[in-house]
Amino acid sequence: MKLILLGPPGAGKGTQAQRLVDKFQIPQLSTGDMLRAAVKAGTPTGMRAKSVMDAGGLVSDELVVGIIADRIAEPDAKRGFILDGFPRTVGQAEALDALLARTDMRLDAIIELKVDEKALLGRIEKRAAETMAAGGTVRADDNPEAFKVRLDAYRTQTAPVSAYYAGRGTLKTVDGMMGIDDVTKAIDGVLGV
Ligand code: AMP
Repeated sequence: MKLILLGPPGAGKGTQAQRLVDKFQIPQLSTGDMLRAAVKAGTPTGMRAKSVMDAGGLVSDELVVGIIADRIAEPDAKRGFILDGFPRTVGQAEALDALLARTDMRLDAIIELKVDEKALLGRIEKRAAETMAAGGTVRADDNPEAFKVRLDAYRTQTAPVSAYYAGRGTLKTVDGMMGIDDVTKAIDGVLGV
């Protein structure tokens, strides 16, 4: 199973991706997680990405496409993967198409979680509060200022990715305003499992 989860920050992509990981035993390829790990490890990629990420902007297509190309080539991605947070620009979607064609892979589904924008900031604030309560480190971009920039990046650069796939008839949408279990059921329905 090879699929893409699309949706704005706070839509629930990470939560649903984790459930798909358990169900299909395939890895979740989250460019955000990979970049945060690179920042933490202080790699050159992390050092390039940190300030842009902290401010809520998007890092360059070239950087994330390189990360994904390397990650998809790893053995555990052979059976499938869930792309979470990638592609985030039409340029990335085109690069992914080229990469998949080159490696003779096909996507099984592209699913967009549709969420009312007004609910998103509340969800992000809840995630930060829960992380803090659990003794974890709150993401540097889970604050109202960076969130505004992230939402703006979503509107201007990522929403066109949905249109890109919709135009090819490959996009399925799921109502992300439902409860977590109902969203999972709706995704299962789309996947026919
Ligand atoms: P996320 O965890 O998906 O919310 O991503 C956190 C941050 O990492 C984003 O706000 C961007 O700065 C960066 N990022 C993650 N994925 C991408 C991507 N596909 N393209 C550009 N920047 C990304």
